[in-house]
Amino acid sequence: MTGLTVFSDLDGTLLDHDNYSFERAKPALAELRTRGARLVLASSKTAAEVEPIRAALGFSDCPAIVENGAGILGASDTQAASRYQELRSLLDRVDPMLRAEFRGFADMGPDAVQRHTGLASDQVSRAMQRRFSEPGLFLGSPSQETAFVAALGQVGLVAQYGGRFLTVSFGASKAERMRELRARFGGRTLALGDAPNDAEMIEAADRGVIVLNRRGTPIPRLEGEKEGRITRTTQEGPEGWSAAVFAELDLLTEA
Ligand SMILES: [Mg+2]
Repeated sequence: MTGLTVFSDLDGTLLDHDNYSFERAKPALAELRTRGARLVLASSKTAAEVEPIRAALGFSDCPAIVENGAGILGASDTQAASRYQELRSLLDRVDPMLRAEFRGFADMGPDAVQRHTGLASDQVSRAMQRRFSEPGLFLGSPSQETAFVAALGQVGLVAQYGGRFLTVSFGASKAERMRELRARFGGRTLALGDAPNDAEMIEAADRGVIVLNRRGTPIPRLEGEKEGRITRTTQEGPEGWSAAVFAELDLLTEA
């Protein structure tokens, strides 16, 4: 037993950003299993999207951080408890003039969600099974947007920008969820990600890994890189992921 918990982003990190394959990470995944390490997925995806991936990876016995940290899919659960109705009704307490300019996934409907996300039609329904957050587009002016975000704050909601969407949630990030789970499990943490929304989690882990993604928005140089606590992979996606996981396991063997 290593006492290690690996926190990992999915797209562009453990999954290849073109074909979503984790084939090349299989030996490292098997080694994590053998060594008794946990794998906690941390993704912007919904529980409905993460659950089959977690099962395919063979780590359904570990919790997963979903909707960018807005919620957790419990270990062995196939569904997450929902705060979505509560969120939607709080959204509707915002000034109707401002509220009307925000088109959440539920306001858009499946066709528009598919158009704006580029997801295949069979993936759209899983992406729309929100439990903790509502991504959407704000169509009003920048000053209305500022007013909308402030109004959300007054009803206890938080708006976060990421990719093309403005996502409304009760707050919490991948990093906060990681801290929560670390407090529960103890032991060492390794966090891996490829994009700026992973940076805080990578910084907060005992060791962090930035997985190379030549096409994405790069993660700026992080404080922990100077100390060598955070490293960057030279290969992309699951290949880079595997090299970093094996390097961590080697370190633990030596220690
Ligand atoms: Mg990613």
